[in-house]
This record gives sequence, C-alpha cells and structure tokens, in this order.
Amino acid sequence: MTAPAKPLSEFTPPSRIGFIGLGNMGAPMAALLHDAGYALVVADADAGAVSRFAERVACDQPGSLSELGKHCQAVITMLPGGEAVREVLMGDGGVAAGLQPGAVVIDMSSSSPVGTRELATDLAGRHIELVDAPVSGGVRRAVDGTLAIMAGGDPAVIERVRRLLEVMGKVFPTGVPGSGHAMKALNNYLSAGTLTLTAEAILAGTRFGLDARTMVDILNVSTGRSNSTEYKYPTFVLPRRFDSGFAMGLLAKDLRLAVEVAGATGSPSALLRELSGVWDAAEARMGSAADHTEVVIYLESLLEERT
Ligand code: NAD
Repeated sequence: MTAPAKPLSEFTPPSRIGFIGLGNMGAPMAALLHDAGYALVVADADAGAVSRFAERVACDQPGSLSELGKHCQAVITMLPGGEAVREVLMGDGGVAAGLQPGAVVIDMSSSSPVGTRELATDLAGRHIELVDAPVSGGVRRAVDGTLAIMAGGDPAVIERVRRLLEVMGKVFPTGVPGSGHAMKALNNYLSAGTLTLTAEAILAGTRFGLDARTMVDILNVSTGRSNSTEYKYPTFVLPRRFDSGFAMGLLAKDLRLAVEVAGATGSPSALLRELSGVWDAAEARMGSAADHTEVVIYLESLLEERT
C-alpha cells in the first residue's frame, strides 16, 4: 500500500503570519486568520489602524518591516496598490531584507499586473516566492470569510498557502504571476461598468417620470440585472447611504490597471478607456476617499450643471 500523499499546505495554524495593511479589508481578513488560530505580526503606515486592530485582536507589532520579515515565513500585503507593496517589500529596511529564502509573500491588494510580474522576478532573485491573490466581495465578504481569491503564480506555491487563503475565502488559481491581478482589474472593469450603466439608466429614467425603486425592482427580474442592481443600489444608493467601504480612488485605480492590461495585450478597449475617463473625472471632483458608490452623486452633479 502506498502512503497517503503528504498535504502540500504548509502554513497551518498556529504558524506566524505577517499581515501588512489593516484598512477596510485587511483588518477583517487578519482578524479571521487570528480566529483560525494563526499568530499575527501586523504593520500599517497608519499607527491608528494598528492600535484599533490590536485593541480587539491579539497580535505582535514589530519594531520595523525587516523585523516583521525575520519572524514570518509567510507575509500578506493588503495595501492600496502595487506601488505601496513594492515600497513595503523592497524599500530600505523593507520586509524582504528580513525574509528567509523559501518565504512566501502573498499580495492580496489590487495591484498592477505588469508591476507584479516585475516584483515576482525581483523577489525570485532573493529566493522569495510571490503569489498575487487579490480578492472580490467587498467588506461584507471579508468579514464573512467568503471572498473570491484569484491566485496567480506557481501552482505548487499556491498549494503551500492554500490552507491559509481558504480562511478568507475560496481560492481560484489563475495561472502565471500577475494573472490574479489581471483578473481582478478586469472584474472591476465589469463591476464599475454595471454601476455606471445602472446610474445613467436610472438618472434618465427618473427624469422621464419613472420611480427609481420601481426601476431597480424591474431590472432585478429582467436582463439588466447585476450586482449593482441586486446589491449596491438597494443597499448603498437608494437609501443614500454611500457607505460600501470601497473608496472611489481605489476603483478608479483598478480601471487604470484594466486599461494597462488591455494596452499590454493590444485588446479592443474603447468602452474601457471611456469608462476609466469617467471615473478619473469622478475622482477628481469627489476626492479619492469618497465611497465608490458616490459616482451616482457625481453623475447627478453633471445633470445639475446642464439644467
Ligand atoms: P484601505 O485604504 O481601507 O486600507 C489600506 C491600508 O493600507 C490603510 O490602513 C493604510 O494606512 C495602509 N497603507 C497604505 N500605504 C501603506 C504603506 N506604504 N505601508 C503600510 N501601510 C500602508 O483600503 P481597502 O479598502 O482595505 O483596500 C485594500 C486593497 O484591497 C486595495 O488594493 C483595494 O483596491 C482592494 N480591494 C478593496 C475592496 C473594498 O471593498 N474595500 C474590495 C476588494 C479589493
């Protein structure tokens, strides 16, 4: 009889995990890892974010990023984007300076797919593995541990970290390094698209005399339905709450990354480029920190200017 195959997943509780970026998404994701039995070493450029997290979740706070690297064989980044990830890892006294050969970095931020390919090569030069593992599902599913996780990189390395990732959601291996980040940017193209299309349709409809709630109800049993009509409009837009926890600047960045993917592959992208321009203009007017659902307010403001 052959011996049962050894599970490949190495990072099982109570291994020590570095977690950098304790914002709207990172804080609930890291809290789930703690609840699953992992030992956390955390960092964030905002000292307030670290202290708010440490008040409710047991964790170590290293004196420096390289010290965090020294204590962890797996490090997760959940930062605004690839530039911050590169700075945290490769900057002077960054995480990579402390990591041992064979360590794994998992970038769960929505970063540049092209930048991720370069980062994977730079880290490989230090015998450090990189998995790009961005997520979809928003704050609600970050809290529930039901995120969609799009994991690019060496399949054997993804298996090494699978158990860790599965605490936060469902893992979908996507292929070459950067492919997770490409998938995420393209998903958010569709997501921003349906929100913008829904907003334009509802603005036009209400000016024609339709009721916004009636429109959403009809869309949700018709072919125009989407996550924007089923979830974002009823939850954040119609009650005028605009508090999804996903900033407008982050979604505008994701669209620029989708344009980057289209450009790198020579793909048709007329609608994508137009949409990205709308979101850049919305960000310029509303501010990067506005909620992304406030794109509706931006479009309403265009209407007011014209009337
Ligand atoms: P956030 O702005 O709430 O959190 C980012 C955190 O990173 C902040 O606490 C900030 O202080 C910290 N930070 C920034 N630069 C840093 C640096 N150089 N060093 C250390 N810490 C630094 O953002 P978020 O909403 O949690 O999103 C994080 C990532 O996840 C982004 O890439 C975003 O596009 C993506 N994302 C967000 C959502 C969502 O619904 N919010 C959903 C899916 C994916």
